[in-house]
Amino acid sequence: MAVKRARRLLLLGLALVACRPRERPVDASVRAVSRAPAAAPYSRAAFPAVDVHTHFDPTATARVLRLMDAQNIRYAVNLSAGWVGHGLEEALTQQRESGGRIVPFCMIDWRGAGAEGWVANSIATLEQCAAAGVRGWKIPKVLGLGAGDGRGHRLRVDDPMLDPIFERASSLRMVVLIHSGDPRAFFEPNTPANERWDELRAHPAWSFADPIYPRWTEILDEFERRVLRHPGLRFIGAHFGNAAEEPDRVESLLARAPNYFIDTSARIPEFGRHDPARMRAFFIRWQDRVLFGTDLGVGAEPDDLMLGSTGEHPPTPEEITRFWRSTWRYFESNDRSFEHPTPIQGRWTISGVGLPEGVLRKVYGANAARLLGLPWP
Ligand SMILES: [Zn+2]
Repeated sequence: MAVKRARRLLLLGLALVACRPRERPVDASVRAVSRAPAAAPYSRAAFPAVDVHTHFDPTATARVLRLMDAQNIRYAVNLSAGWVGHGLEEALTQQRESGGRIVPFCMIDWRGAGAEGWVANSIATLEQCAAAGVRGWKIPKVLGLGAGDGRGHRLRVDDPMLDPIFERASSLRMVVLIHSGDPRAFFEPNTPANERWDELRAHPAWSFADPIYPRWTEILDEFERRVLRHPGLRFIGAHFGNAAEEPDRVESLLARAPNYFIDTSARIPEFGRHDPARMRAFFIRWQDRVLFGTDLGVGAEPDDLMLGSTGEHPPTPEEITRFWRSTWRYFESNDRSFEHPTPIQGRWTISGVGLPEGVLRKVYGANAARLLGLPWP
């Protein structure tokens, strides 16, 4: 049971996700995929994709690969690979078993941040990861929202104490995928009037409305200073640069930091509701710096599936089909006012950006393949 629990915590990264019942023994992901008619529009990516934002249990490899094949996803970056002695070995085995298609990013241990020796230990962790062939480092939102600084305060994303760790990641030529903050609505009062009420009601612990937490813009400011401080280190800003609500803000950092990329994971519902002409222009302008991602989580149990977010119950086959279909439809079609991929993330519709083939090929896969040094046709 302890192993199972540890795996689950690993999969979910921060353990900020509520427990869900497991009453359905059916492998929902596979069933939904195999039932979908092959010719259905937007049933898979129109061009090969790299999903740079996923969380996989090391025992789920076969299910993951079936799912990737069905959606035309050639590679996936597993952000839940842990560190030596805490999941990395299993993640590396999974990478081998997948023929290199599941690419692990490692983590460091944020518990005890600021304590004597913690910085040196963190650097050693990154060095062990790099020596094992790992190309990336995932930083979860606990930096900025949970970790302490060892002096009784919150550890800020741009705390100078962390500089040597980032500089070592830079000299190791790692890519840093960083999640800072969360949806803006999570910082607003947790009431039925909150536009993310469906999600907050299912996961009260995801609310950062309490004034003990910093404000949304405060964390974003820290995050931006961190990216700008290390021009030689390549950053991926998770979840549309952590600010899908404000594309102008995301664009401003992209313009100032050539070392900065963003992923699209878990935020199509958010950026998909902006003016589609404005978003289309965004993707075309930044076509070399946007990386496709989903925040897909595949756990040890057949029904343990996260599609950008989780609800009180595992997703139904219909919800799984909707997730993928709305994802591809957003990027590939000019359709207006259709259902977004993740119902729990808000009761509104999105409009597609109909990207040109050349841009789609880059955003879906070529940019990530180049950044991560993956073989690409
Ligand atoms: Zn994630």
